[in-house]
Amino acid sequence: MQHPRLAGVELGGTKCVVVLGTGPTIIAREQFPTTTPDETLGRAAQILRQWHRAEPVSALGIASFGPVRIDPAAPDFGSILATPKPGWAGARVLKILRGAIAGPIGLDTDVNAAALAEHAQGAAQGCSNVVYLTIGTGLGGGVLLEGRPVHGALHPEIGHIRLRRAPGDDFAGACPFHGDCVEGLIAGPALAERLGGKAADLAPSDPAWQMVAHDLAQLIACLMLAFSPHRIVIGGGVGLGQPHLIDSARLLAPALLADYLGEQDAAKMQDLVRPAMLGADAGPLGALVLAARSLTGQQHDDLD
Ligand code: ADP
Ligand code: ZN
Repeated sequence: MQHPRLAGVELGGTKCVVVLGTGPTIIAREQFPTTTPDETLGRAAQILRQWHRAEPVSALGIASFGPVRIDPAAPDFGSILATPKPGWAGARVLKILRGAIAGPIGLDTDVNAAALAEHAQGAAQGCSNVVYLTIGTGLGGGVLLEGRPVHGALHPEIGHIRLRRAPGDDFAGACPFHGDCVEGLIAGPALAERLGGKAADLAPSDPAWQMVAHDLAQLIACLMLAFSPHRIVIGGGVGLGQPHLIDSARLLAPALLADYLGEQDAAKMQDLVRPAMLGADAGPLGALVLAARSLTGQQHDDLD
């Protein structure tokens, strides 16, 4: 069977990646910094129009940073909501990109898209309940339940959950909204404050990592209780750059659960919590999955 020609846009807080795919394979890619909404989305639309003119593109997938309105019934569907990112609150992402190709459009959060990509061809293959976490400039989480991305009233905002802190940990946290939510404790900017600006250079054996591992373990335990995932996939600059954090968190999480979910031995935790396999391609590949789903009417969570 011939794969359809699909396009995807991963709109990130720092960069925008526009890809062309034949089915799930990326065949062309353009990448540029995220500046103003008009400049960034205008450039993405121009690239899409060029590709579409050269040979028709069947569908488009948009994987956007959040918070973003992904409810198709809402008047501001496809717009960025309240964000501290200057100039982007209210940006009409879908409206600017919509005219660039003729086919259907799938829109979701960047992390739901990444979860779909890891599910389709990465670390969550064969798993129906999946949490994808990116620990990078921020901390975001995408959730698939029974193989479908969770939207709900807005979409999950896992990064802003507050957790029980390790005894003796008095770091105030770096989230401008909440201080010590989990993003404020373990995303890149938080680590820069917490570890004195040298997270990437700090040896894995440095005791300063212990509190960070504790916080990640708390998050993992919380996600296990909330979503009953078959797999938790961890990506992002911190997640993939400090693999020892995943190892430590796997060891610490079972004690936090106190065997409530049954005995979680090392093999089970190893199976449950995995580093992302698709790296920086999870978002763009996820955008292509959104495009493919839109062709079969699966773009929204109320449709099968
Ligand atoms: P973004 O979240 O903007 O898409 P990344 O996922 O690459 O980008 O995350 C960038 C963040 O990850 C920065 O805060 C950076 O300091 C941090 N980071 C990158 N590599 C490492 C590393 N090896 N160790 C710790 N932190 C890292
Ligand atoms: Zn927060």
